[in-house]
Amino acid sequence: MTMSMDQYFIKQQPYYRPVADEVELYEAAYSVRMPMMLKGPTGCGKTRFVEYMAWKLGKPLITVACNEDMTASDLVGRFLLDVNGTRWQDGPLTIAARNGAICYLDEVVEARQDTTVVIHPLTDARRVLPLEKKGELVHAHPDFQLVISYNPGYQSLMKDLKQSTKQRFGALDFNYPEHDIEVEIVGHESGVDRSTADKLVSIAERARNLKGHGLDEGISTRMLVYAGSLIAKGVDPRAASRVALVRPITDDPDMRDALDAAVTTFF
Ligand code: ADP
Repeated sequence: MTMSMDQYFIKQQPYYRPVADEVELYEAAYSVRMPMMLKGPTGCGKTRFVEYMAWKLGKPLITVACNEDMTASDLVGRFLLDVNGTRWQDGPLTIAARNGAICYLDEVVEARQDTTVVIHPLTDARRVLPLEKKGELVHAHPDFQLVISYNPGYQSLMKDLKQSTKQRFGALDFNYPEHDIEVEIVGHESGVDRSTADKLVSIAERARNLKGHGLDEGISTRMLVYAGSLIAKGVDPRAASRVALVRPITDDPDMRDALDAAVTTFF
């Protein structure tokens, strides 16, 4: 069974600024169809990287944002009732496996453990996906590849990927880019000038130093792009920073004041 994969191709080159040798490493991993794990905090470029790689490799990309209510059926597929009775509908993972797409499971650790187990037979030499309810064994298309993202900062003992899952993947580390590269990205994505982008990145660097000292996560590149976009629209930089950088990451009044003070030292 095939379906129109056209919608899953990325037609235009996504802007991705390589940070190290991740593009070459990913290409090598794809050439042997190694399942990949992209590790790093939220908003540091993992999704953009996969989009860029799918475009570069000319493969369709199916992205699934995982959440705690997600069941194995949401990935694999289910029987649906319609006027003609029941009919099977492939889930996104099955569509990707059948048609040779790259399947990106974003924040897979959020999903229930039974969900992660369904990916196991796809990530070893068998490269199969059993559709138990349907009684079918799907053999993955030769082009199929599985990619997951993983934020090491979020994990607790209760919620982590099992070793038996982790060890099925090659892993690439992602982090917020170093200063000049992040300035370039923020400028490109938001349209602010270099000096404004430079100030935004400097504010983020201050906040990132507070991670673990009252902040769970630092200010991400994504947040800097948001702040920059507001500034590019004419919003006062201090107000833009409060809205896009400070308020989203803290509810604590002292921390908020400390971050607001960091903003005023730059703007
Ligand atoms: P993640 O998937 O890690 O949560 P994203 O890939 O969505 O994060 O990145 C958030 C935003 O940051 C992107 O939309 C993009 O604007 C910007 N970004 C981060 N890193 C890069 C990079 N290396 N090249 C281009 N854009 C980047």
